[in-house]
Amino acid sequence: MIERRISFAEKIYDLFGESLSRKWKDELRKLNEAIDGTWEFMCSVGITDVCRQCALETGSCCKRWVEYIYDETTLVINLLLGVDLPKERYRDDLCFFCGKNGCRLRAREGACVTYLCDKIDVDRVKFNRIASVELGYLSLLKVKIRRFIDQRVPRSSLR
Ligand code: SF4
Ligand code: SF4
Repeated sequence: MIERRISFAEKIYDLFGESLSRKWKDELRKLNEAIDGTWEFMCSVGITDVCRQCALETGSCCKRWVEYIYDETTLVINLLLGVDLPKERYRDDLCFFCGKNGCRLRAREGACVTYLCDKIDVDRVKFNRIASVELGYLSLLKVKIRRFIDQRVPRSSLR
């Protein structure tokens, strides 16, 4: 199922990647910068260190079901951001996008961006405020790209 979505997203990208990149260049740049902002904050307050250690000990909280919240639109956005989408599952019990060094996506859904377990002691209001910038840009782009795809591609033709 997730492999089919990846394949669909790659077909969309092959057909329309160039025009999508041109059309929403500014939005993609803003999203990219906002993602950097979230990661910078996560590194500065130690979230990434705690999660790295947790992943070594437990395999992380990136469970297999999470992959089902990713639709083709978010995957196309990842392709537009230069992500090479994975072709194989790294570990059977984990999300398809989880790799040896953590998440293999750049643009992630809200559940992935904002989830912090009890091991993480940070200012959550500040964290959510920073993360909401990235999620706001992602959400706007998803609406535009979904509309673009729906106007041009009968989904049955590419699946
Ligand atoms: S959020 Fe918590 S459970 Fe998930 S990887 Fe980080 S430390 Fe582990
Ligand atoms: S952060 Fe990445 S690897 Fe983890 S559940 Fe979300 S998409 Fe999957």
